[in-house]
Amino acid sequence: MLFSPATVALVTGASKGIGAACALDLAREGATVVVNYNSDEPGAKAVVAAIEAEGGTAEAVQADVGDEVAVRRMFNDIRRTHGRLDVLVANAGITIDKVMMSMSRRDFEDVLSTNVTGVFLCCREAARLMMLARKGSIVTLSSITTRGYPAVANYSASKAAVASFSKSIAVELALMGVRVNTVSPGLIETAMVKKMHPVSRKAFIDGIALGRGAAPEEVAYVVSFLASDKASYITGADIAVDGGASLGLVIPEDSFANRDAERKRKMSGAKAAGRSRGQVGRAPTQATQATQPTQPARPSPAGAVIRGNGAAPAARVTTLEAAGSGRPHGADLPPTDPHIEGTLTP
Ligand code: NDP
Repeated sequence: MLFSPATVALVTGASKGIGAACALDLAREGATVVVNYNSDEPGAKAVVAAIEAEGGTAEAVQADVGDEVAVRRMFNDIRRTHGRLDVLVANAGITIDKVMMSMSRRDFEDVLSTNVTGVFLCCREAARLMMLARKGSIVTLSSITTRGYPAVANYSASKAAVASFSKSIAVELALMGVRVNTVSPGLIETAMVKKMHPVSRKAFIDGIALGRGAAPEEVAYVVSFLASDKASYITGADIAVDGGASLGLVIPEDSFANRDAERKRKMSGAKAAGRSRGQVGRAPTQATQATQPTQPARPSPAGAVIRGNGAAPAARVTTLEAAGSGRPHGADLPPTDPHIEGTLTP
């Protein structure tokens, strides 16, 4: 087990999705878990029941992380009940996905309030508790959308803020023995992602080196590790859990085979030209030029989708059309955080 029985962990937004998986895994690793939720009380209670069914200890606590009074109340309850906090997973987050020109000030500020102010308020209160023990670990959730994806400007701004905020406080809190790290997930199969339009989904998956989305548990395992003493020398890190999506390069499976075939075609073309002109291996003929690769690898605007064999354009245009986004064709659809779904799917 990663944690001693005395360990107390708070996971915000743990009524479902990644937060629920984190709560379950932290409990399996020995921690007592405070399962925070905002509106989904049945979800939070189900997570608590699942933990207890496995012999763990957990409780559900309602608090809107963007509400300072509610956050203080939640941490006061933790202080009264447990007298300590060892781990905070600042996971709660929302999306309101729109292209920037359709985005209201409220759409922008609501996302920042939960995703950034909520993280700040919880980290501040957690640090006040953790500094008493001069030990603790905070894990925040950012996202691969920070690299610049369309229709999530409010969300990606919030997640970039979380990543940057976490690095700053990692330096401050190191003096108190508190480590702070960030996990940046790619496409994680939460309920929201399962509703994605199949064409959008395919475009996302096509941009992931490992060729699939992840189960929430695959994020939770990383969170548990970072929260534990096994990560005792890691602070200020931002770990991508995205199946290689942020590598920005996806090689279609058949491209190597194509290249071999291409080489053979070129060689036979050169031999034929040599035979006709009495030489081999000089300037390419029209015939050999015509067999050059149809489309060299090229980065998308987001640097995310690369197709060397001309396979991608159909996928990107189809996706935007199918989504009825009304946006002009031509921009690549990068594989992204599923939170883009709201805009890109009917
Ligand atoms: P879900 O939508 O499945 O779950 C969100 C959770 O956050 C719910 O438990 C919800 O509680 C809670 N929550 C929302 N607003 C508040 C609030 N104001 N106060 C307290 N809790 C709140 O999201 P995911 O599990 O998919 O995402 C979890 C985190 O991971 C988010 O920060 C997200 O941005 C990030 N992420 C997710 C990715 C993905 O692919 N799924 C990719 C990259 C990052 P309730 O239901 O009770 O309202």
